[in-house]
Amino acid sequence: MSGTAGNPWDAPAPEGEGRPSAYGLLPEDLAEAPGSRPEHVFARLQRPWTWREEGPCLARPAREWLAEHFDCGLPERVESHPSEDGATKVVLRLRDGERIEAVHMPRDVRNPRVTLCLSSQVGCAMGCTFCATGAMGIRRNLSAGEIVGQVVALIRALGPVQPHAITLVFMGMGEPLHNLDNVHRAIRILNHPGGLNISTRRITVSTSGLVPAIERLALMRPRPWLALSLNATTDEARSRVMPVNRVWSLARLRAALDAWGLAPGEKFLLEYVLLAGENDTPEDADRLADWLGELRTGHNINLIRMNEHPASSFRQPPEASLQAFLDRLKERGCFVTVRKSRGRDVQGACGQLLK
Ligand code: SAH
Ligand code: SF4
Repeated sequence: MSGTAGNPWDAPAPEGEGRPSAYGLLPEDLAEAPGSRPEHVFARLQRPWTWREEGPCLARPAREWLAEHFDCGLPERVESHPSEDGATKVVLRLRDGERIEAVHMPRDVRNPRVTLCLSSQVGCAMGCTFCATGAMGIRRNLSAGEIVGQVVALIRALGPVQPHAITLVFMGMGEPLHNLDNVHRAIRILNHPGGLNISTRRITVSTSGLVPAIERLALMRPRPWLALSLNATTDEARSRVMPVNRVWSLARLRAALDAWGLAPGEKFLLEYVLLAGENDTPEDADRLADWLGELRTGHNINLIRMNEHPASSFRQPPEASLQAFLDRLKERGCFVTVRKSRGRDVQGACGQLLK
């Protein structure tokens, strides 16, 4: 759908002025770096724990060549909001002054594993009525360098120092499949064995359901895991809360999952935000299980409490409704967990990311 002139959902391209970001480069783009192997320059750029105070630790010719052709600046950390639960919401300023948010979530104090929640766009075009980012509208896509730059900036500021301990979720601002080319290039870079080498099993792209982009991503390699924000079980209700459903219905979405072709061990993550009085009855739970149908072993359902915020009138249901919903799904043989929202007290939880 992107690229069609006049489409109200078209996302403006990444900020194009000046030199491209050095963090959006693969080793093959660094072949002309003088005096250093391209793989070495790439590794230095991608692994911030090898840096000196002033940045990537490179011999002078390579450093000067990079600075001449590329922008070596990371998105600038302008705010840091540590939450009581250990997560930190970070506000990053991009070169053109736009701001995005990313969340750093360590597993716990003794465990160095970290999940980074990344943004893919400034704002979002999808207009889901429960989401704070949706209320902003779309400002622009992020470039691959800006997406990778979030990861490098977060690791540099907050750790970890072990690349194997990183999990990435594209669940911050924006619809990643509305910016698929840049998101995929960023995934290629982040998955590259010469850089952070993050396994595709630890990269999850969450979508509101852009069916043509799901179909494209299904064929791309490396291929991340897919999360689908379902959030309703009838087309009527889903179209009400997620306008994207007016274009691609629940049946089209289900067919796209069938066509994905799960690899051994791979699963779909289904996200379901419980909205009081809209999608939270046991009948909804039944319809959800029916919709899943044959996907018995290939899914995990994440129930999410609505994070309330001023841009939406939706409220979270009482705990008893959540429990009844959960029980019903379990009775129906679904794999289901309730998401522990991180960073709520600093507005860093799902759907609260707002400039
Ligand atoms: N645009 C993508 C990824 C970003 S949103 C998508 O929609 O999947 C990440 C998750 O946050 C989605 O599952 C979305 O349904 C959820 N979310 C949005 N607003 C929320 C809110 N107010 N409370 C809880 N979860 C919310
Ligand atoms: Fe965009 Fe996702 Fe929010 Fe919907 S839920 S408005 S797709 S960020």
